[in-house]
Amino acid sequence: MSDPIIIWFRQDLRRQDNPALFEACNSPHPILPIYILDDENSGEWKIGGASRVWLHFSLKSLNEDLDGNLCVYKGDAAKIIRDLVKKTGAKAVYWNRCYEPWRIKRDKEIKKELDDSGIECKSFNGSLIWEPWTIKNGSGDAYKVFTPFYRKGCLPALGTKSPLPTPERLTYAQIEKSLELDNLELLPKNKNWDDIIIQGWEISEDGAWQRLNEFLDEGLKNYKEGRNNPAQKNVSRLSPYLHFGHISPRQVWHETVLFAQVNRIPEKDIDCFCSEIGWREFSYSLLYHFPDLPRKNLQKKFDYFQWRQANKTELDRWRHGKTGYPIVDAAMRELWQTGYMHNRCRMIVGSFLVKHMLVHWHVGEDWFWDCLFDADLASNSASWQWIAGCGADAAPYFRIFNPVTQGEKFDPKGHYIRQYVPELKNLPDKYLNKPWDAPKEVLMKAGVILGKTYPEPIVDHMAARERALQAFQSLKA
Ligand code: FAD
Repeated sequence: MSDPIIIWFRQDLRRQDNPALFEACNSPHPILPIYILDDENSGEWKIGGASRVWLHFSLKSLNEDLDGNLCVYKGDAAKIIRDLVKKTGAKAVYWNRCYEPWRIKRDKEIKKELDDSGIECKSFNGSLIWEPWTIKNGSGDAYKVFTPFYRKGCLPALGTKSPLPTPERLTYAQIEKSLELDNLELLPKNKNWDDIIIQGWEISEDGAWQRLNEFLDEGLKNYKEGRNNPAQKNVSRLSPYLHFGHISPRQVWHETVLFAQVNRIPEKDIDCFCSEIGWREFSYSLLYHFPDLPRKNLQKKFDYFQWRQANKTELDRWRHGKTGYPIVDAAMRELWQTGYMHNRCRMIVGSFLVKHMLVHWHVGEDWFWDCLFDADLASNSASWQWIAGCGADAAPYFRIFNPVTQGEKFDPKGHYIRQYVPELKNLPDKYLNKPWDAPKEVLMKAGVILGKTYPEPIVDHMAARERALQAFQSLKA
């Protein structure tokens, strides 16, 4: 068969609810499914280390789902598509839209080139419920505050469109010679790390549905309260699946609402969960309207803020969970060992870095970018700006999380800390978040030697808090 339609998979690595794939399969033409690892156009936002591991396994499973027909390439996407169109005589190229500034620029150029050569080029919305340009405030501008964005902008425009099914018939064009998945070199040289972090994750479209169903059965009820406790099963852990598009936000929303109706889930829990999906959309809206979001403070007054130049040892203590604050350390180790970190803990470690250590939010943003499976330019940048206080709708500068009380409040039985900081597991709950307060005999009985088996705190909380308050006060002037 000739005249294939090239389906360019990007952040939509699934068959169901995939508008580009669906539309192509509705035509009489065979499809040529491709993926391009484009490190040439991404600039400083090349896919990070953990995400590469995830991507490797995603592409493996997508290829299986497409009966071995996925072609993978590496390099400048414009050139690869140009060559492929020539070689295969493709009549069209379809894709689902991405919203990172570098991708928008590249895709526009590719579209123009295809249009100019008379090749049909169609793009679709497969990754968001509300695309950024569709939600504007009364004056026609982008919303900068979440609640009106979501309540006044998004919810009234929700519509009733159901997710698309898997296309009934997938007819493939003869496979072009492409690279082997291993040639993309997505897995790190240090083999131990990727073997560890993928444990517990089923990285595939089916895996996304298993996750969603497990969450609906075990986590949705009581989500509003339980989502703050990192040891509880009340969060979905769907973020990497949403980022890579193993499942779409519309599917998640739709299934959640259906499940909630049948199972009489309290309104507060559904509202809260759906609004978190809304936060993801809000982050994309911010990134689209403020494309400098990943690097420039949204609030310009922060450009004059004097961040501390921390040394490598200090930064490594934060990165590797050795700050001496158990909840911070548990969270940073969870990130390193699982490629994921619970949202409450992201806020705690983020606040600790920018407030207690007075280190620039870019440092945290970069570390998360490299270590998170769900590293997402929109959500990561928007959230770090929020934590630092320089973003739209940001946390006020005087909100400085106390890592001791945060741990006591949100991990009251210490399950999370004991899991990731096992050297403290025998400490009684009373001292688990502040081992330095424990009497000598308690420490001895628990096998803890401060400064040896577990670090002394990297900063004193009260002193660090005072220093941060003074530094951030300067912004007022
Ligand atoms: P659930 O509570 O089950 O929420 C469901 C979905 O809603 C999530 O999968 C996610 O897609 C979305 N969501 C939830 N909270 C947020 C939020 N605050 N902002 C945007 N979307 C949200 N999320 C990312 O997907 N990628 C990132 O790179 C990222 N970096 C972050 C950095 C910092 C400093 C902070 C504080 C938050 C960051 N988040 C990021 C947002 C949030 O922490 C994660 O989306 C969430 O923890 C994912 O876990 P979950 O799927 O179990 O969430």
